[in-house]
Amino acid sequence: MTSPNTRALRYAVVGAGMAGILAAIKLKERGEDFTVFEKAAKVGGTWRENRYPGLSCDVPAHAYTYTFEPYPEWKAYYATGPDVQDYFQFVTEKYGITPFIRFNTEVAGLDWSDSTSKWTVTLGDGSSETFDVVIAASGVLHHPNVPRIEGLESFEGPAFHTARWDDDAPIDGAKVGLIGSGSTGIQIVTAINKRVEKLVHFQRSPQWVMPVPYFQYSDEEREAFRRDPALIDAIRFSDEYIGNVRRFTDAITDIDGPQMQMIEDICRDYFEQSIRDPELKEKLRPNYRAACKRLIYSWCYYDEVQHPAVFVETGKIARVEPKGVRMADGTFHELDTLVLATGFQADKFIRPAGVTGQGGMTLDAFWAERPTAHYAVTLPHFPNFFMLNGPTGPVGNFSLIDIAERQWDYIDQLIDVLRSGEAASVMPTVEAHAAYEERRIAAAKTTIFGSGCTSWYLDRTGVPASWPWSYDAFADAMARPVMTEYAFKATVTA
Ligand code: NAP
Repeated sequence: MTSPNTRALRYAVVGAGMAGILAAIKLKERGEDFTVFEKAAKVGGTWRENRYPGLSCDVPAHAYTYTFEPYPEWKAYYATGPDVQDYFQFVTEKYGITPFIRFNTEVAGLDWSDSTSKWTVTLGDGSSETFDVVIAASGVLHHPNVPRIEGLESFEGPAFHTARWDDDAPIDGAKVGLIGSGSTGIQIVTAINKRVEKLVHFQRSPQWVMPVPYFQYSDEEREAFRRDPALIDAIRFSDEYIGNVRRFTDAITDIDGPQMQMIEDICRDYFEQSIRDPELKEKLRPNYRAACKRLIYSWCYYDEVQHPAVFVETGKIARVEPKGVRMADGTFHELDTLVLATGFQADKFIRPAGVTGQGGMTLDAFWAERPTAHYAVTLPHFPNFFMLNGPTGPVGNFSLIDIAERQWDYIDQLIDVLRSGEAASVMPTVEAHAAYEERRIAAAKTTIFGSGCTSWYLDRTGVPASWPWSYDAFADAMARPVMTEYAFKATVTA
């Protein structure tokens, strides 16, 4: 239920990716005054920035949509990256969001004034504007993690991170080195193995792989989806998807329970039955529990990695040399192109923008130990500042669009208090957030993510930076904020 606006608010939305587009649609529907700041020239966030071969979304396409905008046009059960990007561009146009976006405009700083209860948003060109509310929708995985490997700059061929794909780099008939075996590295193996002369996949840790179905939708099926949206609902709200999400989150929070046992059995059986060569099998056998790192959902990786052009190198990299990579045991891999599928700095969020809240508290200071947010959305000391897909939200193999939509419902109820004129600002109390974090951290340590592996899910202290309870618990928490956990400032003093 939405309350009538008695106080007009100005909103700054930072980022025009999936979550920023969502916020913009919701604000436009209400006739609110908002501006979306986007550092790049196009919408799409991670789907705009990542263009590597094999990029696809491992959440079923019909489930990776806004609930209010099902999409009959998906070409396959799992969409390619370019198809997901098309979807976000389509939605942006359909909902008339483009005129509200300021492209090529980076937010450099956000400063809260207690006297005016407003945020000053400073842009990259030094100009600034004031807003009542900030929606931080700047994404999680967008600052490439470029590994510090000796000699990397000396490589004579193209060497680049996967999120900065170099279209001119030799791939076809070339000797390619690929460092990293997360979701990105695995997808690249499956896409280029038949194009290269040789692919050396430098793998520091092997992955557990969950086998999933893959099929294309025919023209007739797409026509049927257009005529009858119930057919789409039958997929996106199916037990196969929703039930899987519930089972998955039950498993990661009850790591000795039957659901986790099932996930482990499926992954182990698939591994044992798929890899023929005993030497390769030992290289690909993980020594940690399935789902500790983000599970690889794939229908083809185990087939593709056994292609003769692929060599899985599990030795330690000593250094990069002008013509290739030298291993610690002296082995040399001559390469034309070196691809860094080495992931992202997942603790940055809206930074490097400098954010200063109440009493001069900076985001860097507040997050000195680890990035946190109350129920992953709001922060003490930072009034009227709301995060979509912020720190400690649910992570796993499900749609982050659903997460963002639920977070928006929570945010919207808090903003209602501002709209109604009852308060000039809102933020969680220090005590409520500290109590929440204490419970969250204790629970997070017992999830599968904390069961003994490295991953971007862990904060720098080794605690999983994730929602540690069930999906239903998350849905319940987002359905209604606990207002007693919030501090409201009653009047605007200047
Ligand atoms: P990632 O999961 O963080 O994987 C990074 C890889 O690089 C790991 O294998 C890591 O090894 C390796 N690595 C890092 N530094 C290294 C170094 N100095 N030397 C050797 N190896 C090094 O990153 P990602 O694959 O880009 O995926 C990040 C996330 O993006 C995914 O978990 C997922 O959430 C999202 N994503 C989603 C999809 C999708 O289909 N929806 C596709 C791609 C990505 P260790 O494991 O040993 O640390």
